[in-house]
Amino acid sequence: MTITRFAPSPTGRLHVGNIRTALHNWMLAKKAGGKFLLRIDDTDAERSKAEYVDAIRADLAWLGIEADGEDRQSDRLDLYEAAFEKLNAAGRVYPAYETAQELELKRKVLLGRGLPPIYDRGALDLSNKERAAKEAEGIQPHWRFKLDHDTPITWVDGVRGPQKFDPDMLSDPVIRRADGSWLYMLPSAVDDIDMSVTNVLRGEDHVSNTAVQIQMFTALGAEPPSFAHEALLVGREGKLSKRLGSLGCDAFREKGIEAAALVALLARLGTSLPVEPIGEREVLLETFDLSTFGRAPAKFDDAELERINTVLVHQMSFADIAHRLPEGMDEAGWHAIQPNLSTVGEASEWWRLVTGPINRLEFSEEDRAYLADAAKMPGWGEDPWHLLTKALKQSTGRKGKALFLPLRQALTGMDHGPDMKELLPLIGEAEARARLERAAHG
Ligand code: GLU
Repeated sequence: MTITRFAPSPTGRLHVGNIRTALHNWMLAKKAGGKFLLRIDDTDAERSKAEYVDAIRADLAWLGIEADGEDRQSDRLDLYEAAFEKLNAAGRVYPAYETAQELELKRKVLLGRGLPPIYDRGALDLSNKERAAKEAEGIQPHWRFKLDHDTPITWVDGVRGPQKFDPDMLSDPVIRRADGSWLYMLPSAVDDIDMSVTNVLRGEDHVSNTAVQIQMFTALGAEPPSFAHEALLVGREGKLSKRLGSLGCDAFREKGIEAAALVALLARLGTSLPVEPIGEREVLLETFDLSTFGRAPAKFDDAELERINTVLVHQMSFADIAHRLPEGMDEAGWHAIQPNLSTVGEASEWWRLVTGPINRLEFSEEDRAYLADAAKMPGWGEDPWHLLTKALKQSTGRKGKALFLPLRQALTGMDHGPDMKELLPLIGEAEARARLERAAHG
């Protein structure tokens, strides 16, 4: 069974890049009839906040991305400890005592010589006596995972194809801080093993982590999962923008973007499939395929999102949307107003044309006389707009804009808007006559 996971750190709100990763993991699992897990990576106790955990859940719920299980790393520390013991017994972790400043200096020296800033494994040269001396001084070690330098690291990436890393070119990663707390690398591998995760799909900023983690899986006696790294999301201008890094569900919701629009865009952005306003998840799932993912950065364009949103709003059925519509707005009201909407929120502005109050506009003498006639026109019936304009055309000889515009202005207080044919029956005869009357006589 395919098992994927989304593993956010609750140190902030989800942004559009995280949302995309969550969605793709959900799709990868659902397409295969598998499971999608939510794993809260909260080993950083200081920066992790309960409110962010709640926000992550709320955002996923809004997006319609439902997890088949949820865990948090802070509940699983015993497992990491056991894995650590196992690696320690096998000589795959070692204590190191360098301070941050010492490490920084080492990096600078290497970079200054034009060399890659790879950790020199100085800590491995310490004798037992030297280590004891450090600890006697009260210096607690941090811990590094010892990479196996003899075996090249290879995998076939679901997006990037065959990958090869020379372990000599990687630093032994720090996996545990001097205070005993965990860095991301080992707990993630331990969890992926324990939760039987089969596919790890994440951003390409994790490619070198994957190289390291593949060795961790092997060192822990597990088969590594399949890895895939998607190209990062960039702004329309082609750069990694700060704005994207803080653009989350709240901002989209405020702008009236439907979750379905965001999902339709993100499902296909950066793939060879056309981005289309597809509201049905099943359709998006059917066509979801990692082999369509490109390696070029995916460009996120707000205008494209807004276009998709508008089309999806125009496709919504009354039943789907009724609970979000202004009080009193019925199916006929929805149909009258729907074509004018680019967001559902705008419905209440348009609905005011029916319920009033409407803007009061100024009319010329001539138009006022015309509107006074209109207010007195007999008949209403099934299609009052047709009846009214036909009669006025005959009696006044007006046509086109001169015929229609003063009526629309007097009846709605606006120059444009929903189809009058649909709107007028909703306004109702008495109110319509009163509005015409008011416009005619001020
Ligand atoms: N917590 C990590 C992150 O947010 C998870 C990365 C992963 O998917 O393994 O970057």
